[in-house]
Amino acid sequence: MTLSRKRILITAGPTREMLDPVRFLSNRSSGKMAYALAQAALDKGAIVTLVSGPVSLTAPENARLIPIISADDMLNAVMNEINETDIFIACAAVSDYKPAKIALQKIKKTDDALTLQLVRTPDILKTVASLKNKPFCVGFAAETNNLEEYALKKLKEKKLDMIIANEVSFDKGFESDVNTVTLYSKNEEGIYIDTTEKTKLAEDILSEIEMRSA
Ligand code: C5P
Repeated sequence: MTLSRKRILITAGPTREMLDPVRFLSNRSSGKMAYALAQAALDKGAIVTLVSGPVSLTAPENARLIPIISADDMLNAVMNEINETDIFIACAAVSDYKPAKIALQKIKKTDDALTLQLVRTPDILKTVASLKNKPFCVGFAAETNNLEEYALKKLKEKKLDMIIANEVSFDKGFESDVNTVTLYSKNEEGIYIDTTEKTKLAEDILSEIEMRSA
């Protein structure tokens, strides 16, 4: 099975959840892994769409870029594309929570502590993987501990075809040019890929997807 002419949709980067007109909740995702996957997929002849949160990277020339800000925006953009998607790779670090309401004016400080009420954002990958005519679904699991246990749990609970697990810490995983991962597919032993440049890792991941997607 080749990825030539396959339609691949990749989510990338962080999302931003606005608190007020000048502040937001977000995370350290750089988008490097997703953008490297987009380039590797293009190199294999795939048709690539990137739904990307705010990052300081330039999208590969031949990828279609759909820029978004929030998790809700990302879900809408993904669902608009999903019927024309063969392979969905959820690489974005989607914020799990957003403020219960966005203040229309800048929140003023007082002498008191401030408590923010947060509510859950939609799980985009789970939503896609629950569709009747779902594409081949690949997720990422960034964990600080119990990597294998949590990754296998996500593979099963989100009904994924493959999950790529990586260990993160204050100085590992995020914002870096390298990554160390283990790939888990249904009913298979994990495949460990030692610390590798994200560009090379993207090629390896795409080759594994190529072998398993129909
Ligand atoms: O459950 P967890 O957030 O660790 O799952 C990570 C995987 O799920 C990643 O592939 C991420 O892109 C995806 N995800 C998502 N929507 C969310 C949270 C995570 O698509 N709201």
